[in-house]
Amino acid sequence: MRRWNGWGNLHTVYPVPNSAMEYLTKRIGAGSQIPDAQLEEILARLPASRLTPMSLVSQEPQERVFHARGQSLPDWIAMRSGKINTFPDGVAYPNDEEDVRKLLAFASKNEIHVIPYGGGTSVVGHINPLPSAAPTLTINLSRLNRLLDLDETSRLATFEAGVNGPHLEAQLAKHGYTLGHFPQSFELSTLGGWIAARSSGQQSYYYGRIEDLFASGHIETPSGALDLPALPASAAGPDLRQAILGSEGRLGILTQAVVRIQPRPPLETFYGVFFHDWDSGVEAMRQIAQERAPISMARLSNAQETETTLALSGKEALVQWANRGLRLAGYDSRRCLLIFGVTGTPAACAHARRHALQIIRAHGGLFTGQAIGNTWRKSRFLTPYLRNTLWELGYAVDTLETALPWAKVLSAAENIQAALKTALESFNERCLVMAHLSHIYPDGASIYVTFIFRRSVDAEETLARWKALKSAASQAILQCRGTISHQHGVGLDHAVYLEAEKSPLGIELIRQMAYTVDPRGILNPGKLFS
Ligand SMILES: Cc1cc2nc3c(=O)[nH]c(=O)nc-3n(C[C@H](O)[C@H](O)[C@H](O)COP(=O)(O)OP(=O)(O)OC[C@H]3O[C@@H](n4cnc5c(N)ncnc54)[C@H](O)[C@@H]3O)c2cc1C
Repeated sequence: MRRWNGWGNLHTVYPVPNSAMEYLTKRIGAGSQIPDAQLEEILARLPASRLTPMSLVSQEPQERVFHARGQSLPDWIAMRSGKINTFPDGVAYPNDEEDVRKLLAFASKNEIHVIPYGGGTSVVGHINPLPSAAPTLTINLSRLNRLLDLDETSRLATFEAGVNGPHLEAQLAKHGYTLGHFPQSFELSTLGGWIAARSSGQQSYYYGRIEDLFASGHIETPSGALDLPALPASAAGPDLRQAILGSEGRLGILTQAVVRIQPRPPLETFYGVFFHDWDSGVEAMRQIAQERAPISMARLSNAQETETTLALSGKEALVQWANRGLRLAGYDSRRCLLIFGVTGTPAACAHARRHALQIIRAHGGLFTGQAIGNTWRKSRFLTPYLRNTLWELGYAVDTLETALPWAKVLSAAENIQAALKTALESFNERCLVMAHLSHIYPDGASIYVTFIFRRSVDAEETLARWKALKSAASQAILQCRGTISHQHGVGLDHAVYLEAEKSPLGIELIRQMAYTVDPRGILNPGKLFS
């Protein structure tokens, strides 16, 4: 059963040991347990639906509350404090494309705002209804989850777009294939959401980002349907797939997507490496990417993230033992952990590992074998549950990310973290900040930053702290000319920063595309652009 006010499955718990609490207390102060609002209280205050009845639409109160917010930190603050000021007026679960068409016609006729909803895992406010005189209908696409066609000759699979990660992979696995798209939200996020928010999987270095995997699709809009053909390549004008990628529900509802698949790899192994410091680790990552060493993923944590990951792991004795060994080997507190993976045939994996290790060793990296990599593999989709536990202990955890050319990676990582570290001074609070390189490319990398701060008993105050942090980090990203998002999308929280990246004319182009398919502006208004 899914949690309505936090991450994931209600019964999955990620415990935090006492030593980890001592670690956090020392760095940012003791957290206090603040009770959450009860679902019943929220249901009791739910405003009446403004929708006229329609056979496909439920106005059931619980459905409306469960679809009110996603997974951003402001969303969490709203859900946990009960201070949710907007709800969808109704929720529909279409069973097929025909239902989607009927719902769009109903919405167009009655001037109803429509929010396409995949897994609701957005971390930037994508699926939140906004205050408006018009009613809002959320269209949950989870029943559109079937594999419709498998073209093994071309290695193309056609799925209904509401399919979530595990269900998509299970349907492909039956035929011996994989898509290989594994965002950390894999458990709940959907194919349509990945495409609409330009998602990136943890192993996209090997399998490709969603824009590489999305071959074509069928989109229903208030102005009719758009059917894009699946072509290996085309020089026939601008690529409309690219417009759908990142369209965040504003250009229509993606009902089907054709994706590029691969045979399931015979072997996949993950390894741990320690570097003496961040700079040498980053240099090694750059060389790996520029020599196109055929690994399948790389995640390089900075010293703070390395220390915090070990402290929160709950394996106190093992960590102490490892720390002693590392110090003896000359890897002091500046050490940085790299996890890298290899995927493919045994021969390809051996070749990739050899190539990566040659570069890693040239930069002073200490190869520690598979133990750390195996732990990462086991917990890769579990780590988000830590956010639930820490929240309940009084701490808010959030993440943000950017991507920039290699020449700017070191300075940008420093500037963004420095901005976060001082952002709470006026609140007399501290913030624990850490970063890793999450994705590497020949010309640059993605910097992924995690920050932890104390919650206040006053939800407004917690929100004010978050706003100060988010604004400081976003300004720092803009100053470095990084993208405001490498993989989370724009939604509400990044919309104000988009013009700096796209230019006013670029925003106008996007706006005009949306106007063409949706002249009344009913599709997810306020997201991506205003
Ligand atoms: C714990 C956690 C970890 C995460 N890790 C990653 C990660 O590793 N990589 C990554 O890229 N992201 C990550 N995310 C962010 C999020 O999972 C992605 O943005 C994901 O692509 C959203 O998919 P979804 O199905 O949940 O979409 P939703 O959140 O439901 O919707 C996102 C946007 O897509 C639109 N949309 C959804 N489906 C359709 C459709 N069929 N047609 C048209 N529009 C549609 C919605 O209207 C909305 O604007 C993470 C989020 C969380 C909470």
